[in-house]
Amino acid sequence: MRTRLRVAIVGGGWAGLAAAVELGAAGASVSVFEAARQLGGRARSVDAHGHTLDNGQHILIGAYRETLRLMHTVGADPERLLRRLPLELSYPAAGFRMRLPCLPAPLHLAFGLFGAKGSSTGEKFAAVRFMRRLQALDYRLASDCTVAELLDRHSQHGSLRRYLWEPLCLAALNTAPENASAQIFANVLRDSLGGGRSDTDLLLPAADLGRVFPLAAAGFITAHGGEIRLSTRVEAIEDGLRIGAERFDRIILATAPQHAMALLARQAETAAMSDMISRYDYEPIGTMYLGYPPDVSLPSPMLGLDAGTGGCLGQWAFDRGTLDGNHGVISFVLSAQGSWDERNDGELAAVLHRELEAALGRNLPSPSWHQLIRERRATFSCIPDLPRPAAQTALNGIWLAGDYVCAGYPATLEGAVRSGIAAATGALRSTPEAE
Ligand SMILES: Cc1cc2nc3c(=O)[nH]c(=O)nc-3n(C[C@H](O)[C@H](O)[C@H](O)COP(=O)(O)OP(=O)(O)OC[C@H]3O[C@@H](n4cnc5c(N)ncnc54)[C@H](O)[C@@H]3O)c2cc1C
Repeated sequence: MRTRLRVAIVGGGWAGLAAAVELGAAGASVSVFEAARQLGGRARSVDAHGHTLDNGQHILIGAYRETLRLMHTVGADPERLLRRLPLELSYPAAGFRMRLPCLPAPLHLAFGLFGAKGSSTGEKFAAVRFMRRLQALDYRLASDCTVAELLDRHSQHGSLRRYLWEPLCLAALNTAPENASAQIFANVLRDSLGGGRSDTDLLLPAADLGRVFPLAAAGFITAHGGEIRLSTRVEAIEDGLRIGAERFDRIILATAPQHAMALLARQAETAAMSDMISRYDYEPIGTMYLGYPPDVSLPSPMLGLDAGTGGCLGQWAFDRGTLDGNHGVISFVLSAQGSWDERNDGELAAVLHRELEAALGRNLPSPSWHQLIRERRATFSCIPDLPRPAAQTALNGIWLAGDYVCAGYPATLEGAVRSGIAAATGALRSTPEAE
């Protein structure tokens, strides 16, 4: 009888879980080692003030095909767990609103751009020309530069730059346009605005993140004979595919880059890879929750805070009541490096409360509680020409997964999931002789 392939997966974030699901479905025996007490990594549930919330407000889009496929595989129904909305960028205080209508691509984009309120006709034509130019280039730039330079080069100024391109860059790359990679931004545009109509849809979690994927994935993994070891940090990968006293046929390192770097540096064969990753910079994300009376809600599930006057600290506010039933809870996103990170939690809560009032144009009751979650290393800085490692390492049987491994993608859930699938596929196909 053929013995099952034994695979260890280090890290129970979305990348490691995706790898484990693929391997479990293919008949491998999987052990997931997770240092924390829970699964999910940088996209996990947290309890705060009697509510189950998330470490960070996440946005998915219709183009997250592999994430949606794996949700189906593990029995987490995307129709129930994600709220699908046509892309709408609404900044009421600045008088800007853009909504993509339910028309086939590319009409949805053209009509959406031309129908945008609060931008000039000249800007709209320039935006259409920009997208058509990128399309003609097949979204491949001759050389990488910053998103700000790309936008300048294509005459993207005014309100569409401020309320469409720059927020898209921050939301997808979590890196300021002045520092972000234009090529990765172009890839994001290819897969979203440049894709089919449903690719541009926003998919906002309608449940806490644990229920969106990690919990169902864990159930699938154990039902397929795998095991999950929580609170189990792997300190070293020993020569010969050992973790402690146990030997595996393959090991997938599915940690964040800084943790992979530490594990890879111990082996001469992977020292160069570790050195590459050690040069990465990171960007923070803050998620503030304000607890209002249950009847406080927003006119749309997601609202832009920028009032057009400059100086807003928060980018977006989300109405958790309409999304996941946490009535009166509003979450705020504070992306990338910025002055917000120098303020203390109480000051930030007061500022965001005022920014929300300005965006709504009315006074709100004071929140009865606030909770700020600062993720210092939320994502790698997605700068031009950033080298990315391959899934296969120079060590026989050791594979890498994680959002930073998925070349061409910024640090996103879809990038993490795709990297996990790629590592699993590679680990299954490879034979010790071939490695
Ligand atoms: C606040 C915030 C908001 C975000 N918003 C969005 C968004 O709107 N849309 C989007 O698509 N993406 C978003 N992202 C990015 C997305 O969450 C990440 O890209 C993704 O979760 C990364 O998954 P991963 O599995 O690659 O890594 P991780 O989630 O970091 O998982 C790695 C896991 O490995 C474990 N680990 C580390 N070292 C060891 C060890 N030695 N032994 C055992 N276990 C170990 C860690 O505990 C962790 O659980 C956001 C991220 C944050 C932090």
